[in-house]
Amino acid sequence: MDSHVIYNPEHKVLICRQHKTAIPPHFVERHLRGDHSQLALETRKEITEYAAGLNLIEPGQATVFQEKRAPIHGLVIVDGFRCSVPDCGMLAGSKSAMRKHFKEHTRNAYGTEPERFVKTKLQTFFSGQQNIRYYAQLWNMH
Ligand SMILES: [Zn+2]
Ligand SMILES: [Zn+2]
Repeated sequence: MDSHVIYNPEHKVLICRQHKTAIPPHFVERHLRGDHSQLALETRKEITEYAAGLNLIEPGQATVFQEKRAPIHGLVIVDGFRCSVPDCGMLAGSKSAMRKHFKEHTRNAYGTEPERFVKTKLQTFFSGQQNIRYYAQLWNMH
């Protein structure tokens, strides 16, 4: 079991070791069937049953941390950006997403100023188009 998934009871997520991302609780069986088809059916069944007995959150319930945190074991670490506008601190995984965010500030006092954001290391609990917005900023690792 532990060679395939890591249960993180603090954040209530089940992390796939191979894909370095949390698996949504309703998606465990499909994730294993689709992306781990090399595993024996029995093993996939065991993991699915194990997951069903855990207290797990859905992606929409994932915490977005504002403060710096130690990396969460098992999750991929990506290069991202943090908005430097005071009291904002919005995190994004790409420069284009951050630029799009920054435009929201241009309606306010920062419109004529250069873009204000810094590089940082980020993690996300869940991956995939709809779920990837949940980032946790990590220690300054650069
Ligand atoms: Zn996986
Ligand atoms: Zn901002």
